Amino acid sequence: MNVNDAEIVLAILKNNDFEPTKDLIEADVILILTCAIRDSAEEKIWGRLGFLKGLKRTRKKDSFAGLLGCMAERLKTKVLETSDMVDLVAGPDSYRDLPRLLSLTDTDQRSVNVLLSLDETYADISPVRLNENSISAYVSIMRGCDNMCTYCIVPFTRGRERSRPVSSILREVEQLSEKGVKEVTLLGQNVNSYRLKPKKGGLRFADLLNRVAAVNPEMRIRFTSPHPKDFPDEVVEVNTSY
Ligand code: SF4
Repeated sequence: MNVNDAEIVLAILKNNDFEPTKDLIEADVILILTCAIRDSAEEKIWGRLGFLKGLKRTRKKDSFAGLLGCMAERLKTKVLETSDMVDLVAGPDSYRDLPRLLSLTDTDQRSVNVLLSLDETYADISPVRLNENSISAYVSIMRGCDNMCTYCIVPFTRGRERSRPVSSILREVEQLSEKGVKEVTLLGQNVNSYRLKPKKGGLRFADLLNRVAAVNPEMRIRFTSPHPKDFPDEVVEVNTSY
């Protein structure tokens, strides 16, 4: 999900005249996409912020650092209080707001947006693929989760479950097919509970699989991650031999 989120962030920033660089020394803005699923994932981010602090001393120009994703959502303003390296904090549903948040850092303000959404799926954004030459690609079909498993933080950091409109999923898969992609992985916290409104009935995951498979019968379709309780026979019985 974070790889796909990085591709969405890249698309939003490129549409606002930012260009990516692989040179950390040259970067004006450094955004770290974070995970909060385990303590060790967050420990790595604190280590990374320490590294950036050291780097800042050796750089000649100012730069801004931002924390994005689930750790940003979990810790919210605490990140700003704990680290003098972070100028911007944005949760997983706030990426459209990044250009505005970045413009605030231009005026020396630190900025935060950790609002979770009930309907944000970034459906109209075509992700900019991190590896254009890869024959595999990720396509997000839903976000968030309603399951509230006792050990899991996802419903609190990624919010309530919502499904992306099928037309925008099919459009993205078609574009990937035209670019020569041979394998697509459908992504979500709980992909097989994919359901378009109305909540009862409506288009389900098995229907979506059928439609995605019909885009290009030679394309391999994978999905992750499914939940056992949402695994109906219809998914097993999907006939994709077009
Ligand atoms: S289904 Fe998965 S993502 Fe959702 S709460 Fe349970 S473990 Fe977390």
